[in-house]
Amino acid sequence: MATRQVDRFERARKAVRKSELEKLVRDLVRIPSHPEVPTQEKEVAQFLNEFLTDEGIDIRLRPVEKNRPNVVASLKGWGRGKSLMLNGHLDTVPVFDMDIPPFTPKVEKGRLYGRGALDMKGGLGAMALTLVALDRARAKLQGDLYLTAVVGEERSSDGTEDIVLRGPKADMAIVGEPTGLEIQPSHRGLEWLDVHFYGKAAHGGQAEKGINAISMASKFIRKVEEELLPRLSERRSRHTLPPTLNLGVIQGGQQPSSVADHCVVKMDRRWIPEESLQKVFQEIHQLFDELKREDPRFKAELRRDPSSMRTMTHVPNVVSRGHPLVKSLELSVKTVTGRPAKVTSFWGWTDAALLTHFAKTPTVVFGPGGAGAHARTEYVNTDDLVSCMQVYARTALDLCGSE
Ligand SMILES: [Zn+2]
Repeated sequence: MATRQVDRFERARKAVRKSELEKLVRDLVRIPSHPEVPTQEKEVAQFLNEFLTDEGIDIRLRPVEKNRPNVVASLKGWGRGKSLMLNGHLDTVPVFDMDIPPFTPKVEKGRLYGRGALDMKGGLGAMALTLVALDRARAKLQGDLYLTAVVGEERSSDGTEDIVLRGPKADMAIVGEPTGLEIQPSHRGLEWLDVHFYGKAAHGGQAEKGINAISMASKFIRKVEEELLPRLSERRSRHTLPPTLNLGVIQGGQQPSSVADHCVVKMDRRWIPEESLQKVFQEIHQLFDELKREDPRFKAELRRDPSSMRTMTHVPNVVSRGHPLVKSLELSVKTVTGRPAKVTSFWGWTDAALLTHFAKTPTVVFGPGGAGAHARTEYVNTDDLVSCMQVYARTALDLCGSE
């Protein structure tokens, strides 16, 4: 980095106080934005829009569907540098059973508690204030810096699909999901699968006249556990954690005295870049074939669960460790934290995959640490919020360039 850029970074890191960042994240957490809220993400989107408008940032709400706007903000570049997008989601999962007040955020011993504090209003707040910090520091970025705060990530990534289709289009992007300040340029793909088993109904007292779909499901589950899972656990990826399959839901039958004529098993399959979706389907069909040979009455059908995605397959995310974005993040983490950066692989699936694969925008996941995403006690580390904001700001100065 040139001396002038270093000066600008020093100005930017001082331009926003920790208390401002904590306040913004608390304000974001205070506004529920999960699917059970009638207005869904609308209120939190409007709040962020007003907040950044007051700061003089160029920002607009852009509806993805009725009442569900993405927030798109930008710092326009002064020249022809590379553009960078900071992407985070506005929605959270519902409260479920929490041990803390979900929407009355409080800060205690360096932790900010509340639903969505970690996943991911913390990261989102740090991203929003990155634009503010660079603006206050008169950073004069050469390339554009965007913030896209999106709807529906926790369900079918509606918001980021809209960004992929309608822009803005950036050269590189960072998704601010919680990584504990580790740089995560890769993760597995995610597919939700339904297996339907078909039998024949009969009275339970004359069960031999029927075909039991629950028994079929149980034979399938045994095959999965004895044959498929051991194979998956041996598979290794150059980029990501090993593949997994989770049996998540089983539903079948009507009542105890009836032979069940239908049963469905819902599965979550995390697939690695070395696999393909085709292969994921084939492996399950192979189990069907084996079961059919063992019992000709076996009848099953594999379907993709339509609720988990909109139109874009949830492919794995792979960005090379040598990519300039990863390198720049490494230097930024070192500068900000004084410790060498860790480059690892994210355990979950994120919108980064859609940006990398469908928008051709190499995207890396980097965000704060904490605990309890989707769980009973959720918090984000407040020191990490500050580190994140500074890392984002330094990376933007480095990659977008600054005259
Ligand atoms: Zn998330």
